[in-house]
Amino acid sequence: MALRRAWDRALHLLATRVSKVTFESYIRPIRPLSLHDGVLTLGVSSAFAREWLDKRHCALIRSVMEGVLGCALEVRLRVLAAEERLAPTAEAAQPAASGAPTKGAPTPGAPAARPRRARGPLPPPPGDVPTIAVSPRFTFENFVVGRSNRLAHAGAVAVGASPGSVYNPLFLYGGSGLGKTHLLHAIGNEAVERDPATRVAFVDGETFTIHFVSALRDRKTEEFRRYYRSVDIWLVDDIQFIASKEQTKEEFFHTFNALHQTGRQIVITSDRSPRELRALDERLRSRFECGLIADVSAPELETRIAIVERRCQVEGWEIPRPVVVHVAEAIRSNMRALEGAITKLVAYASIMRSTMSIEMAQSVLGEFFIDIPGGISGRKGVLPDTVIRAAADRFHTSVDAIKSPRRDKQVVVARQAAMFLCRQLSEIPLSQIGAAFGGRDHTTVQRAIARIEALLPQDRPLQAAIQDVRDSLED
Ligand code: ADP
Ligand code: MG
Repeated sequence: MALRRAWDRALHLLATRVSKVTFESYIRPIRPLSLHDGVLTLGVSSAFAREWLDKRHCALIRSVMEGVLGCALEVRLRVLAAEERLAPTAEAAQPAASGAPTKGAPTPGAPAARPRRARGPLPPPPGDVPTIAVSPRFTFENFVVGRSNRLAHAGAVAVGASPGSVYNPLFLYGGSGLGKTHLLHAIGNEAVERDPATRVAFVDGETFTIHFVSALRDRKTEEFRRYYRSVDIWLVDDIQFIASKEQTKEEFFHTFNALHQTGRQIVITSDRSPRELRALDERLRSRFECGLIADVSAPELETRIAIVERRCQVEGWEIPRPVVVHVAEAIRSNMRALEGAITKLVAYASIMRSTMSIEMAQSVLGEFFIDIPGGISGRKGVLPDTVIRAAADRFHTSVDAIKSPRRDKQVVVARQAAMFLCRQLSEIPLSQIGAAFGGRDHTTVQRAIARIEALLPQDRPLQAAIQDVRDSLED
């Protein structure tokens, strides 16, 4: 692996470990200069940067690079001369392996060598339990990369290319419909394509629980363990499902350790970060933090358009570009909903034998413009007062006006939109929402929501305003 590439990988990791400011100001400008006999020399732009990095981040940089290169290192920082800062690094292109110690003791964080495999495909798990196959539909080729998923994608590609040796575990998290499961399948597909003997097990939190409970019931825990410990790549989707189940969690922990210690690759997805998975064991959390943790967020418009276009290509659909853009503009935070909307549109156009237009999209997809069941990043829990404040800002009125009996149009729309958003973004009962709006009753809230729902499909400015309020709440 060229030193440059190793350093690029390390940068991805470091970006998740330090603050953005530190990363941009001190870490990104570092240039990898050379690696000889386990001594890694890094170039920095000033004496101040050297001092700062030396004091605060050198140990982290060392351990990350040790993880990437799989050998013990000593890190030296050297201040670059002005001309060096501009010139390309000659030595950086040199393969790192030539300078890396070959017999160095493995560092604690580095994975053990993966046992060579000469086995058949993974047999089914013990008992009559459901299994999930890796789906050939989800590959890296048909995954659209954008700012929102770049790190997760890079981590997944690296893991698919060399399981067990780069980021272990790889932990991907983010809201619903943002491509986590897609990446998980893509890793499995990639690894099997490179080495068909790779044993891949794909399981989700729920299925793992079912397997474990039925193994307990049938007294087959030994077989259960043997099964899960014989895999090369363990893909665990939606781990949040096991977070609150004590015994299953314990078993998961042991499986995790057994695989991790023998250098097998583990990839986990979740709807929350390890830190937010409150019911998660501290031991597990710290193990997750040894690997790469990457989030996926809602993609920006260009990525959403590309996702729709990619899908159209695969399915052979021809949808006018303005329609694609219109739908992608309206459905922002769940790509499953976006794909569902497009599929519905195609079906409608084919049944009605009509050509697709923006008007048709608006009438057919009315309900989709209300977007995203599950609220902000799939979580339900925004407080009415927070929503009221955000709505007051966006609709150019005040919190007091929204809570007052005033009936002028601007205030009424702001109030109704805020009620609608409270409903969408929280589980709070209508009566309590009403109470937060200056003591209104639940039927008023119901009417307000119905009114907004009726207006939304046709009213673009209202759609945009409501989306703005939502976006401001996401920040
Ligand atoms: P999650 O597991 O995060 O809830 P999924 O992986 O199930 O989301 O994605 C939902 C749908 O959206 C899938 O059909 C997936 O292929 C598609 N999708 C999501 N993100 C992307 C992307 N970046 N590129 C291509 N398709 C995507
Ligand atoms: Mg999923």
